[in-house]
Amino acid sequence: MITTDTLIIGAGPAGAACAGGLKRRGIPFLLLDKAVFPRNKTCAGWVTPEVFRTLNLSPAGYPHSLKEFREFVIHLRRRSVYLPVRQYAIRRIEFDRFLLEHYGLEPLHHQVREIRQEGDHFIVDDRFRARRLVGAGGSYCPVAAQFFPERKEKKEMWISAIEEEFEYPVKDERCHLWFRLPDLPGYAWYVPKGGGYLNIGIGGYTQTMKEKGTTIRRQWESFLHLLAADGLLPDRTPHGRGYNYLIRRKDPPLQKGNVMIIGDAAGLATPDMGEGIGPALESGLLAAGAIATGRPLTARSIRKNSFNHLKVAGQILWRSLSPFSASIAKNSAASA
Ligand SMILES: Cc1cc2nc3c(=O)[nH]c(=O)nc-3n(C[C@H](O)[C@H](O)[C@H](O)COP(=O)(O)OP(=O)(O)OC[C@H]3O[C@@H](n4cnc5c(N)ncnc54)[C@H](O)[C@@H]3O)c2cc1C
Repeated sequence: MITTDTLIIGAGPAGAACAGGLKRRGIPFLLLDKAVFPRNKTCAGWVTPEVFRTLNLSPAGYPHSLKEFREFVIHLRRRSVYLPVRQYAIRRIEFDRFLLEHYGLEPLHHQVREIRQEGDHFIVDDRFRARRLVGAGGSYCPVAAQFFPERKEKKEMWISAIEEEFEYPVKDERCHLWFRLPDLPGYAWYVPKGGGYLNIGIGGYTQTMKEKGTTIRRQWESFLHLLAADGLLPDRTPHGRGYNYLIRRKDPPLQKGNVMIIGDAAGLATPDMGEGIGPALESGLLAAGAIATGRPLTARSIRKNSFNHLKVAGQILWRSLSPFSASIAKNSAASA
């Protein structure tokens, strides 16, 4: 039996940040993951400047494929408008391994199956013994499932998503987002990456789609037709990989006694855009601080939205009222 103070389950962004924070403070921990890194994760890989700030890293210092976007092309029904931004895209297969290197971590390869309590300790698979558990295992984290079962009942907050990332001579280097597609209570994306990769995908509220009598797979097929019509679809037909995750509602509980959950395990992705990498990192660092100080872990200080709604709505309204906005976007796409 291996004994430690804190056992972190999951070495994605949330688990890596938590382990990094504990390591910096000299607090003993073990970090487990069922995958061997580099591993892929179903994700568009869009990251905000806040992510780099959280990592104390300038985007220029990131040593792998990075794409910078100075504008998003927003498609709203028949109109297309530009939104000036400074945003980035990474590839998760590179980024998640980079995080482990950044924090100087080497996770143990182990899939957690059974957790039981013995006095004031937790025994995991009869192999690990710890005083404290941190669940960072994503949407289906075993710690969250066992100690925070009420999380699953928030049916209206689950998102279904499909994406595919592939090597491809990208036709348009800009990031496109489609909102208000018929029957999709969410949005679709076209995200070029560094190194000649492209990520396309869609995501929407599972329950609302059910009520509308549609499925994420059907929406994915419609989206592929739309991309083909816009001349953005590759010659091959992407199959798409699906995944579900929980969107944040208010401040979800992150701690019960000596058990904490962070990142997707806690459902911290932003409700406006489904951005989860930043909140996963923030919650991991906060968990390490809470363990070090003994103060309770809460979600209160974790970023709630990806964008300032009023500012974005104002920009979109202003641009979409311009009679030229649609044709400007089309002309610019053609010349890109
Ligand atoms: C299609 C899609 C697109 C997305 N696009 C974006 C985007 O563009 N930008 C953004 O910010 N967010 C995006 N997200 C959300 C983002 O991917 C997640 O919020 C983020 O990965 C959460 O990080 P995490 O560390 O909590 O979990 P994860 O990254 O899921 O890591 C969890 C880790 O736990 C491990 N694990 C799981 N179970 C066990 C077990 N039993 N034992 C041991 N290890 C285990 C897994 O192997 C994994 O490595 C997207 C999500 C989807 C589904």
